[in-house]
Amino acid sequence: MTDSALVLFSGGQDSATCLAWALARFAHVETIGFDYGQRHRVELDVRPAFLSMMRLEFADWKAKLGEDHMVDAAVIGRLSDTALTSETEIAMQANGLPNTFVPGRNILFLTLAGAVAYRRGIKHIVTGVCETDYSGYPDCRDDTIKALQVALNLGMDQRFVLHTPLMWIDKAATWRLAEDLGGEALVGLINRETHSCYRGDRTVLHDWGYGCGDCPACDLRAQGWTRYMQSPRT
Ligand code: ZN
Repeated sequence: MTDSALVLFSGGQDSATCLAWALARFAHVETIGFDYGQRHRVELDVRPAFLSMMRLEFADWKAKLGEDHMVDAAVIGRLSDTALTSETEIAMQANGLPNTFVPGRNILFLTLAGAVAYRRGIKHIVTGVCETDYSGYPDCRDDTIKALQVALNLGMDQRFVLHTPLMWIDKAATWRLAEDLGGEALVGLINRETHSCYRGDRTVLHDWGYGCGDCPACDLRAQGWTRYMQSPRT
């Protein structure tokens, strides 16, 4: 299936936008999500709701949107003691990385995605990693993804293509991309039905979506939304 894609869909804004991006380009799209003991487990809960709403609101995409694969990746949570997988307070570390960094997480996720793509005969793998306004996670870097593409293709004897539609755009441009792909209906759906907050807070709906409002993920999302709303429409 050279015209099929597997999208790493976490339930957050970035991966939801990547899912729409893939649906606009490929004939058949499947999704994969990972349970790794994340504190913000609510993002796993919003995934099926988002997929259902997408099928409901976008008839063209409904026909293309295939199976959702949930993979148990709890081992990565057990191996690491980070603020994403335990009750540790979110803080900067001496090495300049926030303690929300889970070492090896994206490397493992993309390897598992490669294994599923191999089994499903899927050529394109899409991930929402971004080097532009990210938290400094080294496994979100373009070089890491390019190296992984080489490693997966050598190690599985495949010709996978790893796509990173958000690599060089900021959060405001990510909202703009969603608007270009699916209009205000998609922007509204992503705003209401995706989840970014590290604390898993879905009690308050802000104009930029649900969240605690003061964790790094909420900050990034809120700032991106504000810049998107302020930027001139073309
Ligand atoms: Zn938050």
